[in-house]
Amino acid sequence: MATSSDSAATALLGLRCPRCHQGKLFTYSAFQVTKFADMPAQCPVCEQSFEPEPGFYYGSMYITFAFNVATLMVVGVLLYYFFGNPDTRVYVVVVTGLTLLLTPAILRYSRALMLYWFGGARYDPKWRGRVA
Ligand SMILES: [Zn+2]
Repeated sequence: MATSSDSAATALLGLRCPRCHQGKLFTYSAFQVTKFADMPAQCPVCEQSFEPEPGFYYGSMYITFAFNVATLMVVGVLLYYFFGNPDTRVYVVVVTGLTLLLTPAILRYSRALMLYWFGGARYDPKWRGRVA
């Protein structure tokens, strides 16, 4: 029977390993300002490599760019339609502030998407229920 830990979407949203859906992709909390991007070399549960090749995560910059463009567009539309098209400085300050605040989340989800899409690991249910 399929469980919530079988869902790749749930594992991705929880920033879990693509193979076992149990091991955490990141070592520290997103609120640790200097360490939010630190990842273990491999999964603590199934030992799946989190860096399949050197420089693997350079490609996640494109995903980060897409997230930031989406942020810009959503904030721009919201400010234009709900706040009566304020001065340009308001757009700049709000978009810059929101982008900086969302940096840890955007970086983490960009890396996770990169690993899920291009990391070469597939879910293996034999790791279900194991905890690091
Ligand atoms: Zn794993």
